[in-house]
Amino acid sequence: MIAAFVAIVSVAAAAPAGAQTEAITIRAAAALDGRGRSIPDAAVVVQGGKIVSVESGRGGAATYDLRGLTLLPGLIDTHVHIDTHFGRDGRATSEGESPEQSMLYSVENAWVTLMAGFTTVQSIGSPSDVHLRAAIARGVVPGPRLLTSIRPVNENTGTPADIRAFVRKVKADGADLVKLFASKSSREGGTQTMTDEQIQAACGEAKAVGLRSWVHAHSPSSIRAATLAGCTTVTHGSQATDVELALMQQHGTYFEPNIGLVSQNYLENKARYLGIGNFNEEGFAFTEKGIPMKREMFKRALTVSGLTLLMGTDAGAGAHGRSAEEIVYRVQVAGQPARDALVDATSHNAMSLGLADRIGALAPGLDADLIAVDGDPLTDITALRRVVFVMRRGIVYKNVARSR
Ligand SMILES: [Zn+2]
Repeated sequence: MIAAFVAIVSVAAAAPAGAQTEAITIRAAAALDGRGRSIPDAAVVVQGGKIVSVESGRGGAATYDLRGLTLLPGLIDTHVHIDTHFGRDGRATSEGESPEQSMLYSVENAWVTLMAGFTTVQSIGSPSDVHLRAAIARGVVPGPRLLTSIRPVNENTGTPADIRAFVRKVKADGADLVKLFASKSSREGGTQTMTDEQIQAACGEAKAVGLRSWVHAHSPSSIRAATLAGCTTVTHGSQATDVELALMQQHGTYFEPNIGLVSQNYLENKARYLGIGNFNEEGFAFTEKGIPMKREMFKRALTVSGLTLLMGTDAGAGAHGRSAEEIVYRVQVAGQPARDALVDATSHNAMSLGLADRIGALAPGLDADLIAVDGDPLTDITALRRVVFVMRRGIVYKNVARSR
C-alpha cells in the first residue's frame, strides 16, 4: 500500500520555507476544499508557497499525479500540548531531563504531527513552545505552523488587575493567545475555579491587546462565565447542558469539545500516567465515566444550529501524531457528517485562529498547505489515517503515494 520511505523534497537549509518559484501542479481524483465543496478530477497549482488556482478537469501535465487519492487542505488541531511526551523511563513526565532532551521530544512531536497531515497546531501551551515555533518558522525544523499560549492564567494568577498585567506580559513574550483554566480538571470534577471577575479580566484584556482567549471549562457555570465574558473559545465543555450550548451559539463563542482522543489515550496509557499529579484511581474513574458523557454532550451540540464547532484534541503524551482519531471518532461513533467534521478541522479551525485568510481551505491566495489521503474520507473517514502526501507552504515533506 504505502511505500516504506519518506521523500523529503527541496528542503534545503538555506532556502526559506515556501520560496520555490517554479509552478507545481498537483492532480488528484478529487479534492475537498475545506469549506464543504467537493472538486472532482482536481488540479491545484502552487507557486511561491501559495495556492495559485484550484480547478476541476484541467488536464495537462502534473508535477505530482496523485491518482486515486483525495486532496484536502492541511488539517488543523486547535489544542495540543506539543511538549508532552513519555520520557526515558516510559512515564508521562519530563522529570530529570535536561532542557535539551525535553526540546528534542517536542521536535519529534512536531514531526509526527506534520507527517499525520496536520500543518497547523495550537499548543496551549508551554514556555518552550516559543523556541520550537521559531525553529519551525525558520524553515529548518520540519513541523506544523505552531501557535502557543506560553503560560496559562488560573485562579491563582491574582486579582483582576494582576490578571490584566499577566495578559500584557504574555503578549509581550510572544503569545498567540491566552489560555485560561476556569474550572478544575475533569479528573477532579470540573467545578469553576476562577471567579467571573477573573475570567472577565483575562478575556477582556486579551481582546484589548489583540489576542484570542481559550478557556478550559467543564462545569456549566464556568462555561457560562466564559461565554458571557466574551472569551473566544470554550474548550472541553464536558458538562455543557442545552442551556450552555445555546448560549455559546448566541454569543458566537467557538466550542472545542475533545471527545475522541484525550481520554482514550489516558486509559490506553494508564500505567504511564498513574501516580503523576491528579492521575490517580479516582481521576481515572472520572475519565472513564466521562467518555460516554462527552459523546452524548457532543451529539446534543450537533443539533444546535449556528454553533461553530472546532476540532481540537488536547493531545498529550501518547497522542501526538494521532490527532485525526478525534475526527474519526466524531464521525464513526458520535455521528457527525464527515463533510462537517472536515470543515471543522480546516476552515472553521482557521477562522477560530484568526487565520482564515491564510490557511484552512484550498483556495487561490492561501498558503499551499495541503495533504492527500488514500481513499475518500466522505465515505470512509479512516482514510485520514492514511496520509500519503504532505505539503506545507509549497514544500513537500511527505510523498509516499504508490504509483498507480
Ligand atoms: Zn489541554
